[in-house]
Amino acid sequence: MQELTYFNGEFVEPGAKVVSIDDRGYLFGDSVYEVVRVVNGRCFALSYHQDRLYRSMREMDIPVKMTPDDLTELHEILIEQSEIKEGYIYLQISRGVAPRHHAYDRSKLEPQMLMSIRTLDMNEVNTLGNGVKAIALPDERWGHVDIKTTNLIPNILAQTKAEKKFAYTAILFRDGICTEGATSNVFAVKDGILYTHPADNYILKGITRQMIVTRVAPSLGITLIEKEFDRDFVDNADELFFTDTIGGVIPITKLDRNPVSGGKPGTVTLRLRDGLDKLMQEGLP
Ligand code: PMP
Repeated sequence: MQELTYFNGEFVEPGAKVVSIDDRGYLFGDSVYEVVRVVNGRCFALSYHQDRLYRSMREMDIPVKMTPDDLTELHEILIEQSEIKEGYIYLQISRGVAPRHHAYDRSKLEPQMLMSIRTLDMNEVNTLGNGVKAIALPDERWGHVDIKTTNLIPNILAQTKAEKKFAYTAILFRDGICTEGATSNVFAVKDGILYTHPADNYILKGITRQMIVTRVAPSLGITLIEKEFDRDFVDNADELFFTDTIGGVIPITKLDRNPVSGGKPGTVTLRLRDGLDKLMQEGLP
């Protein structure tokens, strides 16, 4: 098993110095990215990630040079060559290389593509099922966080604040409304009903969130409502959890200084975690 890095059409040493200092991804964070889980040596929900990637590129006006089939093949090659069974693939496409100037000229730029495959410590992933601590922070991001760009400064600062307080991540609030986590989506359970922020421009439409909303919750007969809710609602929720590609459904057992659902993962949360795990084992293109 070997972790691999692929840049613009060839395999390179991990950490290789192959990116130009004039790359707009390096200078401006002018790039889009995706993270796909590898489960049992197969990508999970790759077509969903590809749809989101193409949407991000359209929104950013970055030309698409690869078909979904080409991209799928590259993911498969990385898995095959690395022999990684449980891990994740990071994909990043920057707008291209040009002398530093804010405005871009699409006709003079060639998008630069980086991919890497890494292993995941499944013990760490499984431990997340025991529940994590979260802290609340203001959402200081721009108005288009639905586009998955590498320009993640507010997320980075929030995540660092959270980790300094020994929290898994932060729950973000914009004008008093709970949007999502610094690196994940947020769900609340109240009286057996599941709530999450609508998939508008104020959250990233997480693929794991989509799995819960469109597949796992319906298959378990759990009612879901996509609507805005505030800090008061969060504080009075029966259960809270995060979702993301790496951790799946992650129960929140403490928010700031207060225990959530008695300091233990909630029952609805655990049913959803279990349902998602089953779906991941079955596989989804
Ligand atoms: N929101 C943010 C801000 C994220 O960075 C992520 C991904 N880490 C998510 C939500 C979850 O998205 P996904 O389920 O596609 O990993």
